[in-house]
Amino acid sequence: MKHLAMTHDIVVAGGGPGGIPAAIAAARNGAKTLLVEKNGYLGGNLSIGLPLLAYLDKWGHQVTAGIAQEYVDRLTKHGACWGHARCPMHNSITTYNHDISKIVLLEMCQEAGVEILLHAEVVDTNVDNGCLKSVTLYGKGFRIEVDAKVFIDATGDGDVAYMAGAQYDMGQKDTGVLQPPTCMFSVGGVNEEKFFQFLDDEPEQMILSDTIEVGQGYDVSHFRSTKNYTVVGLRKLFTELKAKGELPVDRDTFIGINSMLPGEHNINCTRHLGIDGSNLFDLTRAEIDGIFQIENLVATMRKHIPGYENCYITRIYPSIGIRETRRFIGKKQLTEDKILAGDIPEDAIGLGSYIIDIHDGNGAGTIVKKIDAYGIPYGCTVAKDMRGLMFAGRCASLDAVVMSSARVMPTCMVIGEGAGVGAALAVRHGIQPADVDVREIRTILKASGVLLDKTW
Ligand SMILES: Cc1cc2nc3c(=O)[nH]c(=O)nc-3n(C[C@H](O)[C@H](O)[C@H](O)COP(=O)(O)OP(=O)(O)OC[C@H]3O[C@@H](n4cnc5c(N)ncnc54)[C@H](O)[C@@H]3O)c2cc1C
Repeated sequence: MKHLAMTHDIVVAGGGPGGIPAAIAAARNGAKTLLVEKNGYLGGNLSIGLPLLAYLDKWGHQVTAGIAQEYVDRLTKHGACWGHARCPMHNSITTYNHDISKIVLLEMCQEAGVEILLHAEVVDTNVDNGCLKSVTLYGKGFRIEVDAKVFIDATGDGDVAYMAGAQYDMGQKDTGVLQPPTCMFSVGGVNEEKFFQFLDDEPEQMILSDTIEVGQGYDVSHFRSTKNYTVVGLRKLFTELKAKGELPVDRDTFIGINSMLPGEHNINCTRHLGIDGSNLFDLTRAEIDGIFQIENLVATMRKHIPGYENCYITRIYPSIGIRETRRFIGKKQLTEDKILAGDIPEDAIGLGSYIIDIHDGNGAGTIVKKIDAYGIPYGCTVAKDMRGLMFAGRCASLDAVVMSSARVMPTCMVIGEGAGVGAALAVRHGIQPADVDVREIRTILKASGVLLDKTW
């Protein structure tokens, strides 16, 4: 084993939607920043076939901008994004090419001066007197001790904060149930027109359960009107197949996402119940189960969904998607009552607006509720019980219902950018992230185009 030591101002652990903007914002604001990612590429769930949801609110107003918008602009320049299109269910859908995304993310990080270490996993932490002092990275036989003034945990599951012993919550209130993971894959050979004709002929296929609040016009005419579409439907077919014992997944609806490649749909449809994605053994079980569910699901799609008769697997994404695990306790916690009230506090570092979207981790259903834009307080990114530790992405200090909304990738990017600016200012002023004047953070965010309030 080779032992090395490094010193940075800021270490961002996890190169997904939370971590990348955190690292870019920190570096742009003068901090010597290291971004550590266990995979060989940047993106996290930006690389698993999902569309970007809710840059726009339910009325069509843009709520997410800043680095998240720069990312979309860059993708568009590469011919790898179709921009934002309104959706009656998901507020808005932004379809992009997940491979070109890897190029764009590297470009953006490198231009900002972020130092990147790939194939490096944070495997340990060193806490001294309530302050996170260093983390240990491991990769390819290298063991590296990295000191920093601020660490931003953007690992999704909050692995760094967990190892450091920070406080966290898990699961829905009262039940503790976690949203289930899904193994994403894509199929080619889809006859879109035939699929739409099926939905035309059987409009009842678009009737969803009464726990799902759908906006007016979420039907086949909407899908025909835009290339940026995601079909959540086929409940009737799934119910019939389940009754006959022919449904290979524990879901009551199908989710097909249009890809930028002709005839390709990305499928968000496997479901794995009773899984804790932060538990190595559960995670392994879900990955294996996911792979087998995919083949059975594709066979079912070929047999029963008009338009998919000749579909074939084009991609199985590198690892299973985890919707929900640890949510860490911050100086502030954003709670359901605040987002239902559309509260935008004075210390907001950005806005969210995506629907409350809770997939049942114990059954086949989903709860969807439409909400207005809300503000995310800076304190959600700052650990309550540990100095030197911040959060970005879905492990931030949000209650379970808020997380079901703020977990979408554009909102995770907003949280990341705010955390990155806060961390850089802490370093600049030689203080803790908790002591940074939020007004100074907001001035910088505003100048970078982040939307901090309703402009309508
Ligand atoms: C099935 C599914 C469908 C979804 N659908 C959508 C959708 O349609 N649109 C949308 O916008 N959002 C969607 N989401 C939500 C969204 O993808 C996630 O909530 C979001 O990606 C979380 O971002 P993050 O940066 O916190 O975590 P991640 O995207 O998971 O990124 C975390 C990164 O940290 C790295 N990492 C983890 N541990 C370590 C470690 N110890 N050391 C170093 N690196 C580490 C990982 O490799 C990864 O790159 C979906 C999620 C799932 C699971």
